Amino acid sequence: MFATLSDRLTATFKNLRGKGRLSEADIDATAREIRIALLEADVALPVVKEFVAAIKERARGEEVSGALNPAQQVVKIVNDELVAILGGETRRLRYAKSGPTVIMLAGLQGAGKTTLAAKLALWLKEQGKTPMLVACDLQRPNAVQQLQVNGEKVGVPVYAPEPGNGVGDPVSVAKASIEEAKRKLHDVVIVDTAGRLGVDAEMMAQAAGIRDAVQPDEVLFVVDAMIGQDALVTAQAFLDGVGYDGVVLTKLDGDARGGAALSIRQVTGRPVMFASSGEKMTDFDVFHPDRMASRILDMGDVLTLIEQAEKAFDQEEALKAAEKLTGGDFTLDDFLSQMQQLKKLGSMQKILGMLPGMGQIREQLENFDEREIDRVEAVIRSMTPAERANPKIIDGSRRARIAKGSGRTVSDVNQLVDRFFEARKMMMQMAKGGGMPGMPGMPG
Ligand code: GDP
Repeated sequence: MFATLSDRLTATFKNLRGKGRLSEADIDATAREIRIALLEADVALPVVKEFVAAIKERARGEEVSGALNPAQQVVKIVNDELVAILGGETRRLRYAKSGPTVIMLAGLQGAGKTTLAAKLALWLKEQGKTPMLVACDLQRPNAVQQLQVNGEKVGVPVYAPEPGNGVGDPVSVAKASIEEAKRKLHDVVIVDTAGRLGVDAEMMAQAAGIRDAVQPDEVLFVVDAMIGQDALVTAQAFLDGVGYDGVVLTKLDGDARGGAALSIRQVTGRPVMFASSGEKMTDFDVFHPDRMASRILDMGDVLTLIEQAEKAFDQEEALKAAEKLTGGDFTLDDFLSQMQQLKKLGSMQKILGMLPGMGQIREQLENFDEREIDRVEAVIRSMTPAERANPKIIDGSRRARIAKGSGRTVSDVNQLVDRFFEARKMMMQMAKGGGMPGMPGMPG
């Protein structure tokens, strides 16, 4: 899901790596690439236009020009805007204050409604609810049976018309199901309705009839994400014909582009509430705009890290250090001051854990000894100003003195000095545009 978009955007950000400042031309080129990325992902044109305009405006503003690292700042802006078009806050299910909560599903045939009804029922069960499924799709042969099979899979009872008794009137089945739910003390009722292969006036009228009969707390429009922009046309037709409170995207697993997911909120004004991404009953989850955006940008939780860094770091100070780094005259004093700033962010374990790609070295992270930083600090503090400014002069006798002064061994001092030179070399390479080795999606 979103693979194309993800690749494109990551490539775009790569081009910004190592830039100290963004020129007007850089911003234009970036905006153009983002536009192409979105169009390729099959995002609706009006949504693309609005998105790109917002990015451009923010990138030109203070936000980026004063930033420590413009590339990261652009990533942050794109992330913010992605979250916004995906709906902003996570929209949670609203439950009825009294009596059973009624959730009605609407959508075309094949959208995945019947499958979704059972997935939703399972999810509700896991939330401690006692749901009941209602089969109101009396059009499609086997639809009732399919719901019964799925209901059995997830251990949720299905209310269906008795064969030969009132079959053909979904509105009265729906009505009766609510009474049944009250009698049997089900706190959520999920009503599956009939779809057609295309938008159809009769289908809309029937869905509207069921809606009026059961007065749902939530009407959810279920749509197959794989149909791309057609999803938007259907979404509009259902909005006019039945109306709904939220959207459920299905078959996200089969949709590498993700255009429907990115456009539907903006086009319909209704939030995506759930996403379905496979045929298994557990391939289903609440749709979180922020996490989805992070996934699109392949970013781990770097955004939290950037935000926290913005709060903790003195920008002037950091800028000076960055300049020194590129020039190669980064000293142990600078190292010390960076370390002190870093400490304000929290534990190293927490900081490193927010970087993408860090999942692979989780074990090492867990064993990280936080006191190591204090030890390093003690060693540096035992050096003279001249030694800190020019670590090359730290010879054998100086090392012995520093070790004694800091209560560490000579080998500890050796290790620190060696590491410092290594780190300086690596950081100089990174500053020259290489980015962090082995960290996907991390503009350096
Ligand atoms: P309905 O006509 O709207 O009730 O649609 P169904 O629930 O019968 O689903 C139509 C087809 O899509 C079935 O073969 C499902 O197994 C399949 N399907 C439903 N949801 C998903 C999904 O999230 N991913 C994939 N790959 N297939 C799905």
